Amino acid sequence: MIPTLEVSPVDNLLEVTDLSVGYVTKNGLLRAVNEVSFKVSPGDVTGIVGESGSGKTSLANALLALLRPPAISKGRVSFGERNVLSLNDDELRKLRWKELSYIPQGSMNSLNPVMRIKDQFSGILQTHLDQAERDRTRRVMEDSLSKVGLDAHNVLDAYPHELSGGMKQRVIIAMAISLGPKLIVADEPTTALDVVTQKDIMTMLAELKKQMGLTLILISHDISILAEICNYLLVMYAGRVVERGRSEDILSSPKHPYTSGLVASIPRLTGEKRVAGIPGEPPDLVTLPTGCAFHPRCKYRMTACVSQVPSSVSVGDEREVACLLYR
Ligand code: SF4
Repeated sequence: MIPTLEVSPVDNLLEVTDLSVGYVTKNGLLRAVNEVSFKVSPGDVTGIVGESGSGKTSLANALLALLRPPAISKGRVSFGERNVLSLNDDELRKLRWKELSYIPQGSMNSLNPVMRIKDQFSGILQTHLDQAERDRTRRVMEDSLSKVGLDAHNVLDAYPHELSGGMKQRVIIAMAISLGPKLIVADEPTTALDVVTQKDIMTMLAELKKQMGLTLILISHDISILAEICNYLLVMYAGRVVERGRSEDILSSPKHPYTSGLVASIPRLTGEKRVAGIPGEPPDLVTLPTGCAFHPRCKYRMTACVSQVPSSVSVGDEREVACLLYR
């Protein structure tokens, strides 16, 4: 059986403090993540949303210590008592998959095309199960595949090219849940899938969350995909969190002009409202605009916005926004 998580509902599972990530490029320093802080409690489903280039994937990679200094210039990622960023390679190997699991972007293409699913899957399990437990490998694989709606008899002997995109994504999710991790970070888990399969995958993640008590961080450029499953949202723009709070609050009453644009872009099935976009392009992270990085696109721009970087301020219960309109 896949273990389910038992933790105190009051403890933070993950606490990110003042995290910054940058890369040296030939054009200068690319500031991908700037002073990001947030907490995740057990059972939360936290969505991180923003356009391409907003720093979401760099943030995900930092959470899993897939990035190391000098890319990470400052900050802390506390997972329980441990700072993930200061663990050594052996400690990280033990942590990943078993406690902190990852569904990478484009993950259905990350399966090795020349290995059968069972060999790739068992390779992950063998790393974490001790000698006595290794006899359970087949049962853990079958149980995990069943939880994502796949029949192990049809999948384990297959090569990736024999499976549909949706099936490959389910295999990756089965691998991610197989060792009963405390937290799963999923980066664009429905990218490259058709709309119906996207919906199926998100419904399945919601069901797994209920069944297994999973805690999830879901990353997407599409706020409508996150809206249905996440109870918290972080909105990122140009490497900064510009708004965060409970999903229902953000979706019903977005505060930051960028969030308003994202929410307005959600297609509606009824009503007269037309889908609106956000004018302009995301900024180059090497040559960020001065002041508020959103100012070239913001219809509420004031003189101060060009020179002052807005800090996050509280605008309600568990609600923060970084915009000079709320000083
Ligand atoms: Fe717009 Fe100014 Fe707020 Fe930035 S700080 S989002 S430019 S109003």
